[in-house]
Parts: sequence; structure tokens; C-alpha cells
Amino acid sequence: MPRSLLILNSGSSSVKFAIYPATARPARADLLCEGKFEGIGGTVSFTAKKANGELLAHEAAVDASTHQEIIAQLLKWIERTFDGLEIAAAGHRVVHGGANYAEPMLIDDKIIADLTALIPLAPLHQPHNLTAINALAKLHRSLPQVACFDTAFHHNQPRIATTFAIPRALTDDGIRRYGFHGISYEYIAEVLPHVLGPELAEGRIIVAHLGNGASMCAMRERKSIATTMGFTALDGLPMGQRCGAIDPGVLLYLGEQKGMSASEISHLLYNKSGLLGVSGMSNDMRTLLASDDPHAKEAVDLFVYRICRELGSLAAALGGLDALIFTAGIGENATPIRSKVCAGASWLGIQVDEDANAQGRRCITKAASRVSVWTIPTDEDLMIARHTWDLINSH
Ligand code: ADP
Repeated sequence: MPRSLLILNSGSSSVKFAIYPATARPARADLLCEGKFEGIGGTVSFTAKKANGELLAHEAAVDASTHQEIIAQLLKWIERTFDGLEIAAAGHRVVHGGANYAEPMLIDDKIIADLTALIPLAPLHQPHNLTAINALAKLHRSLPQVACFDTAFHHNQPRIATTFAIPRALTDDGIRRYGFHGISYEYIAEVLPHVLGPELAEGRIIVAHLGNGASMCAMRERKSIATTMGFTALDGLPMGQRCGAIDPGVLLYLGEQKGMSASEISHLLYNKSGLLGVSGMSNDMRTLLASDDPHAKEAVDLFVYRICRELGSLAAALGGLDALIFTAGIGENATPIRSKVCAGASWLGIQVDEDANAQGRRCITKAASRVSVWTIPTDEDLMIARHTWDLINSH
């Protein structure tokens, strides 16, 4: 068994992982296995499969409830399943790198302290990212660990794109737009020349990362110039359970007139809003698309409407549009959502090819379409594996 890289994406209710050999810079074809622990907070289930989809593990109820216990179980399972496999390094998705971390870092005590200080900016994700790092450090003291930040890809956006119109001292204090989903956008930027061709790839591109969390990013020359998420991962599009852009006056009203505490408002915006809040039914796009309930339909319509509005805004930031990319769970799989967004964006010069869209082809627009639209699967784990490989081999 080769030395391997363990890639971890640790969230509030799930821990996802992937294992790549550490023998060469990882490519998708090298993937050894991937899997997830789901349902943290209730009954935790575990599944793992090989790259070809062959099931390696499927346990409906695992004897572990905390992140620490889950990481310990995972290490034991790896040991049992891959005889003699040695983990050479771990790579982590870390949602917030703040103003200082613009590229992946080898983790040390100072970085852990800095990232801990950023927890209030990403309360839904950052604590769980850090728990995985700390749990692994406890179990595997000398293991090199790498943090890859969701904010890093947006780090060099023009200052005008990151500034709120608030007093300058607050901006200087770090209250600005950061943007997220950067590991996914970085992956898409890396594959764009192979999919779109080298010339179009450098053009005015908007990527719609539509998963349970959702955002959009405007790229020119494959660099981020604007994005819909801001100071936190709450801004921009409505998401599974998050509200997306909201008039800040609503928050003042909820606090001052409705007597809600800050933590109640936070819970409302992060956990009770978005598709779940509007539908009153589910945060899962599959459930909503399959439902006849008018509230489910309204949730879907609002999601599409906001994507179309943001498309106009990001196209304005780019001074036009050459290509639109759909990615992540909804972007890659939800044919009707792609179709509705393309219909709403026909004014931008998009002519969707409904057959190509239904067949899930890479390019889903007609040959005559001035702006081409593409579906590209994202691969955040692979991006993290590559950064981890690069960092452990540069030291
Ligand atoms: P995250 O990584 O942010 O948790 P994903 O990228 O896995 O989320 O996306 C999850 C979303 O993708 C869910 O809303 C799910 O319903 C949606 N999704 C997955 N497959 C499909 C499908 N075939 N049709 C419609 N939506 C889908």
C-alpha cells in the first residue's frame, strides 16, 4: 500500500473524506476511495466507496457521535481496509482564512489560533473544520496537516468589489466581503481551458456553484473579480437553509421590534431560512422539484429568480458575459433549474439546447448561442489533495 493523503471536509452534520496516493501529484483517476459519516447530532451512518463506485462500507448506525470519535473510527477503518496504508499527510477544507491566508498553509499552532479567532465569521463551518484538525493532531501527533481556504481564491479581487459602504475604520478592521466556495471555483478555473478551450476560458465567465450552500463567481482570465457571498457565507443566493441577501434593516427590526436575541436571529438566518424556510418543507432541491405544493414551487422560483438577478449583477461587473458554468449538486444534476435559469437569462444571449441539457451534456447551449453554458462537475477534494501534495513536497 502506498503512502496516502487523507482529505477531510468536516461540517456540522457530516464528515466527508477522500484518500489519494501520495506518490505523485493527484489526479482524479488516482482516487483510492471516498466516503462520509452523516447524521452527526443523531444516528451517524457511514458509507465509503471506491472510485469506480464499488461499495467498501455501508453502516446505518456507527458507534460514534462526536467529530473526535468519528475521526478515530475513520482511522481504524482505513487501517482495517487498506492493509499497511500509511497516511503521509492530511488536507482539510477550511471555510474562512480571513484577511491573512491567501493560499493553502501547513498547519501549526499559530494558524490554529488564527483560524479559531475567525469562528464568529463562519459559525456553521469553521468550528467543525477545526475540530477535525485538532482531533487528527491528537491521534496522529506528527502528521503534517494542510488547510485549504474557501476564501483564498477571492483574495485578489479588486478592493472596490470587497468593500462595504461603512465607515473606513470598520473596513480596516476586516469587515469586508471575503467570498467563499473558493476551492470549488479554483478547481473549475483549473479545468476551464480543457473544457471550453484556451481562449474562451480566459474570457468573462460566471460560475454558479449551486449546492446546499450556493454562490456565484465572476471570473476574468480565470481569476475571481466578484462573488455573491460576502463577509460570511450567508450573503447572495438563497440556499438550502440560509437566507442569502437580505435587507440589513430586517435584522434590526427582528432585534428591536420582535425582541429576538442575536443567537435567535443567527439561527433563523443560518438554519431556518432559504429553500427550507420558503417551502416550509425541505432544504433538498430533489424534494422540492418533485412536489406539487405551491410553497415548494415558490421556493424553487425564488432560487431561480435570485440566480438570474445575480447573473445580471455579475455580468455588469465583468462588462459582459462569454460563458456560464453550472456546478455542485444542484448545478450538476437539476436539469429544470438549469433550464429555468437559462430561460431567464436569454436577454444575455443564452439560447439553451433543451435536449443537451436533459442529456446532461457538457455544453447545453445551441451553436448560435452568443453566450455558451456548460455543466462541469466540481472536485474540491482533488483540489485539496493537490495542494496538500504540493505543500508536503515543497518542505
Ligand atoms: P453541499 O456540498 O453544499 O452539501 P451538494 O453540492 O452535495 O451540497 O448539493 C446538494 C443539493 O443538490 C441538494 O439540494 C440536492 O437536492 C441537490 N441535488 C442533488 N442531486 C440532484 C438531482 N438529481 N436533482 C436535483 N437536485 C439534486
